[in-house]
Amino acid sequence: MDKNNFFKKDALRPTEEQRLLTQPFYAQANELYTRFNDWKDIDRFYFIPLYLEMTYCIAGLVSELAPDPVWLGSFVQCTINHPELFQYKCPKCGKTVLPYRYVGTPMSGRVDLEGKCECGWEGYEMVSGWFIRGEALREQIAADKFRHGKYKLLHPGAKAATIDELLAELI
Ligand SMILES: [Zn+2]
Repeated sequence: MDKNNFFKKDALRPTEEQRLLTQPFYAQANELYTRFNDWKDIDRFYFIPLYLEMTYCIAGLVSELAPDPVWLGSFVQCTINHPELFQYKCPKCGKTVLPYRYVGTPMSGRVDLEGKCECGWEGYEMVSGWFIRGEALREQIAADKFRHGKYKLLHPGAKAATIDELLAELI
């Protein structure tokens, strides 16, 4: 159980299968950021659904940084496009960390940017500004909607690709 997800109602939780499909992203996010140019133009990889659990329920009202699923490409693009919002320096070695998840609550306004560094450090940077970060992510998703619609139209019924398939392609 995630320490930050104390607001969340069971009904909003992703299935076990969706969680398992998302886990390789947490482990391999740095590789996927580094190789973004190699896969960002391939629709079936760009639109891999991630279940990052960034949706919260407070007193019956759903409040979301972004609703699950978030497309892999949209998430990575958002982090890259907004270094001031989503990137930070590793507290151990000073290198830039690109997080694999943003977890926060609208009540406190706090967001934890979870990530890991090449040096082995793993953890999160706590920042304030829940609203502005949710807005940036939702704008990126909105910007990608047209491309997604076109992809779905050209590939009706296509099964979503997985992180593992993408990693296999990159080797
Ligand atoms: Zn480091």
